[in-house]
Amino acid sequence: MTTTTRQIMINTEGNWPNFCFEVLPVSREGEKGKLPKGLYASVASSFGWSINAVQVCRRCGKPLDLSAFMDAKIEEVGTDGMDSAREEQEQWEAGELAVRCESCGFKKSKKLGANTWCEHNGDGTVPCKTCGAKTGDFLSAAYDFIMANDGLTADDPGYFDED
Ligand SMILES: [Zn+2]
Ligand SMILES: [Zn+2]
Repeated sequence: MTTTTRQIMINTEGNWPNFCFEVLPVSREGEKGKLPKGLYASVASSFGWSINAVQVCRRCGKPLDLSAFMDAKIEEVGTDGMDSAREEQEQWEAGELAVRCESCGFKKSKKLGANTWCEHNGDGTVPCKTCGAKTGDFLSAAYDFIMANDGLTADDPGYFDED
């Protein structure tokens, strides 16, 4: 007996009220999945996104810019730059690096703590009690990911019923 894993695909061409994307089971042509807003984080996660991609300033709540070490490119920063970017990335992921907020300049204080990596409580459908990230922060980041990845496919984690 062979089992085939059903694939889902991001299709941002869909034009449903309240739904800005569709997830199509590739194996069933024409069938459309419609998913409510609250599932954005869960859907994006199926395609490799993580709520941990969302990291906000402990003081002003704006997203932190992590591109200096998370998206460093060897063409731009050179070999030495890549080495220190990797080191910073490791420190960041271990929760040892505090990042200065571009919007308000906050980095750390006794009262508010530090702008360090947050694991977040919950699954992106509730605000994070630790860092203050709001549900909307998770939803909009997940939405941006989905919209930027039209055509991406993944194994269906169970959005569509088996035949
Ligand atoms: Zn800030
Ligand atoms: Zn958090």
